[in-house]
Amino acid sequence: MRTFKFNREIMALMANRYGVHVIINRDYFIEAGMHPDDFVDRSFSIKADRTIIIGIYNNPEKELISFFHELAHILYPDYNERETWREGIKIAERNQLIFDADTLKWAIEQCDSYKPPNSKK
Ligand SMILES: [Zn+2]
Repeated sequence: MRTFKFNREIMALMANRYGVHVIINRDYFIEAGMHPDDFVDRSFSIKADRTIIIGIYNNPEKELISFFHELAHILYPDYNERETWREGIKIAERNQLIFDADTLKWAIEQCDSYKPPNSKK
């Protein structure tokens, strides 16, 4: 995918299209007292507020696929983690955004290593 210079524009467009809010603010995590382990290469969604909070990514494709994953969490609240990754990728495809194989592989790894926020390690 070559459009990643425009991640912010894409996320703003999608947020408008699907009726969600997006927070992209690195200070958010620092102010919340979070550890980098909790917000690097990770994003979050607050379903009740239809809000997506984008973590910090070095790779823009990872950022964007994570955005679509969180979007799917909001649009399909009954889906499990795996279904949500799959649906997020489908939503992206419906919007002409196709991820590279490396990014899809990373998404599968995220899915396989997922632990719910309150689970004990
Ligand atoms: Zn998830």
